[in-house]
Amino acid sequence: MAIFIKDVLLNGETTSILIENDTITGIGKNLSMPVSGVSPNKKDNLTVIDGKGKGKAVLPTFANMHTHAAMTLFRGYGDDHPLEEWLNEWIWPAERNLDEDIIYWGTRLACLEMIKSGTTLFNDMYFFTDAASRAVADSGIRAMIGFTGFDFFNPETAEKMKKDISEWYNNLGHSSTQSSIIPVVAPHAPYTVSGDTLVWLADFAAERNLHYHIHMSETESEVANSMKQYGMRPYTRLAKLGILDKMSSRFIGAHSLHLEEEEIKLLGDHHASVVHNPNSNLKLGSGYKFMYQELRDAGVNVTLGTDGCSSSNNLDMLEATKTMALLQKGWRGDPTTMPAKEALKVASLNGFRFAGINAGKVEAGAVADLLLIDLDNIGFIPNNDTLSNYIYSSHSEAIVTVICNGQPLMQNRQVEDEDLIKREARRVAKKLLQK
Ligand SMILES: [Zn+2]
Repeated sequence: MAIFIKDVLLNGETTSILIENDTITGIGKNLSMPVSGVSPNKKDNLTVIDGKGKGKAVLPTFANMHTHAAMTLFRGYGDDHPLEEWLNEWIWPAERNLDEDIIYWGTRLACLEMIKSGTTLFNDMYFFTDAASRAVADSGIRAMIGFTGFDFFNPETAEKMKKDISEWYNNLGHSSTQSSIIPVVAPHAPYTVSGDTLVWLADFAAERNLHYHIHMSETESEVANSMKQYGMRPYTRLAKLGILDKMSSRFIGAHSLHLEEEEIKLLGDHHASVVHNPNSNLKLGSGYKFMYQELRDAGVNVTLGTDGCSSSNNLDMLEATKTMALLQKGWRGDPTTMPAKEALKVASLNGFRFAGINAGKVEAGAVADLLLIDLDNIGFIPNNDTLSNYIYSSHSEAIVTVICNGQPLMQNRQVEDEDLIKREARRVAKKLLQK
């Protein structure tokens, strides 16, 4: 399989790009369309995309590093209520109805939305991981699928969870596991999982080289409770439990919004990653002073995510990137902070780096995850600065082609099975939200 992208704008210059199998193998103005050498006898194995006409620009795809994919089905359900009421009266009762069918189609809907908005990798934390993995594989996208661990400080629940996660891992069939699925250990949060279980899960992950994905310091009240209960802030506690030492660069803390200097230093010293979820934090009223510069300067790998559709309402990473950049400028009172180029790096390269995938950049030798934008879209007229226009003025409708791992998942905004996915998502949403 080869893809030749002809006459496309890259960093302000018109060039051509050759993709062979899953890798970008050539970039250059004078690159000629392969007629031999690449699939010499099978011309239909070569896809040609012409960037000419009104013009197309190429950019890396997004990595959404914190979401609960199948929660697409909760979009607009129980919005604008106080957090506890929303969880107790809306979300948790409906989640009792979850089954494989609901998760499969909810995740397919999430994958469809992500493909249409330029995301090719996401880090998921939800239930029925087998159904979610099937949905990811059937969509052609790639995901880190987290086994969500809860014990609610109940030893019996902890034992059952340990048994379940061991079974899940043993049943993955590692040799045959599609490379598009990366299994992850995902304890929900330090206030829903006991210290013993958090440590047990870190040992489990470390022994198997798995990543560790957890909600951290999302609200001020959870930090205050940690101080009251343990006499220390959540990250200080995680470090004391030895979890940051065990997981190091395989650790990723979602939200990580309410941090103090000591915690930022701990994260940097351990080469850990965090995920900023600006739209979710704003909508739930959790806060907005994300410590981006401090984290970056301490050596923390800062990534971006949307969170689930019950709190961010969409999975649009371009929108999240704009919110992130504006928030940094706004709360710091400094328009030079988080320029467009840096915002895109956080939203793309840093996420792929956490997953250990050489993508998030359009360079020869990189994995071929890239997207094309239509420069005839109003947001690019006039095109004084493509990257600025992309982050600050356009919308994801400007994304016309998405390639993941060398495979085109969207061309001319057409994605396979779109009508079927929408129909099935409407059907299972009724099942999920029945009282
Ligand atoms: Zn979340």
